[in-house]
Amino acid sequence: MNNINVFTGPMKSGKSSTIIKTANELKNKGENVKVFKPTIDDRFGTGFVQDRNGNKIDAININKIEELENYDADSYVIDEFQFLEGNLNIIKNLANRGKKFYIAGLNLTTEKKVFGHMGEIMEASDNVQMFKAHCDFCASANAIYSYCTAPKTGDILVAGDDVYFAVCPECYDRLEFSRK
Ligand SMILES: [Zn+2]
Repeated sequence: MNNINVFTGPMKSGKSSTIIKTANELKNKGENVKVFKPTIDDRFGTGFVQDRNGNKIDAININKIEELENYDADSYVIDEFQFLEGNLNIIKNLANRGKKFYIAGLNLTTEKKVFGHMGEIMEASDNVQMFKAHCDFCASANAIYSYCTAPKTGDILVAGDDVYFAVCPECYDRLEFSRK
């Protein structure tokens, strides 16, 4: 079936680039593709998804999963899914009716907790791809965590590259140890 596809991993691991590429490929095949992202993510602006290489694609800003039902598409492409609230059954029901989903999001918070609905959407998915990034501190290709050097204020903090880093397990532990 492969109707729910999930691309996950830490920040800077290429999730948004994959989403943009996937959406363009589907559009080129003539599919009705709609791209969505949570309103909260306004780092690069609203109304589009942009990757770190400057590639962008038009996107619809939504606040809740329920809003997907307002839009007809063959494929629903969603970025930064970890920020979306709402009822996952909406997605499962649409997928059961043949709609396809391509969903990108951070699997873990900077505290290594499951981020939003990401755990549940991975459970519902038959195609989960885990991405890795290069560690911002030691340059190893094994960055699987996101790390925030700003004071801890909870899970949801949309900020830039100056406080958010992709880190490998060793650097995560070292950074946590040195901040105590
Ligand atoms: Zn490292």
